[in-house]
Amino acid sequence: MSQHEPARTPICPVCRKATAEEFRPFCSRRCADIDLNRWFSGVYAVPMKDDEDEDGASPSSEER
Ligand SMILES: [Zn+2]
Repeated sequence: MSQHEPARTPICPVCRKATAEEFRPFCSRRCADIDLNRWFSGVYAVPMKDDEDEDGASPSSEER
């Protein structure tokens, strides 16, 4: 039984470091950015596969 539990200290979900009050719940602005990127990556990860599909989709030559 020790009161040395670090569980009370909020940690950055990105790098697991102690968070900074300024950037909670992250430790720095960089980590906040990384987390945000993760979110976008996760959201766009699925439709991203459509990249190659577009090649053989409809022959819409709008660029020319
Ligand atoms: Zn961090």
